[in-house]
Amino acid sequence: MHPTHHPSYEILLDYAAGNLPIAPSVIIATHCSICQDCNDTLDTINITGAALMDDLNDDIFDFSSLDKVLSKLEFQSNENDTKIENNNGVFDFNIPKTLQKYIPDSFNWKNLSSGVKTAELLTDDGFNLDIYKIKSGYQIPKHTHTGFEYTMVLDGGFTDNQKYFARGDFSLLDNSSEHSPKADPDKDCYCIVSMNSQIKLTGPIGRFINLINF
Ligand SMILES: [Zn+2]
Repeated sequence: MHPTHHPSYEILLDYAAGNLPIAPSVIIATHCSICQDCNDTLDTINITGAALMDDLNDDIFDFSSLDKVLSKLEFQSNENDTKIENNNGVFDFNIPKTLQKYIPDSFNWKNLSSGVKTAELLTDDGFNLDIYKIKSGYQIPKHTHTGFEYTMVLDGGFTDNQKYFARGDFSLLDNSSEHSPKADPDKDCYCIVSMNSQIKLTGPIGRFINLINF
């Protein structure tokens, strides 16, 4: 698999250093488990970081940070297998192995609108991790966020701000980003999404609708 849209180097550094909360970390780990390029970059970061730690003076090193880094490195080292496993019995498409442990046996889907359903996978440190199902051909009304939105496509695809996102593609938006993603016309789109924010509708209709219920 060769995703087109990747996390930035800075995000991969934050992930490797254990500076990201669990929910966005799961998205980065899932992307890296199926993206050879980002997996290679992570390997380089981890090797460089390990060498750097060897050189650090014990007197100035924060061992609580070391524990965080080591736990992340161990987590990542288990995720280097780029194979994709079966669908875990929940979906009719393959779920990346890295993500499977976060997928429950059954879902409580919540309808956000006629075209969007979500199911929460976890909440930690202010960030949710949810699965989104966007109905084929549905366009989410124009909106922005009050914080960050990490997204990775699991199945299908969508077009957003004239860019196309397919399985494995990653996106990070902040409160300066306005968007209105539209799912492929012939297939439902599933994504994992991590947000620490509320959705703010910004289109001419959306401004008259209460938040969230798009
Ligand atoms: Zn990548």
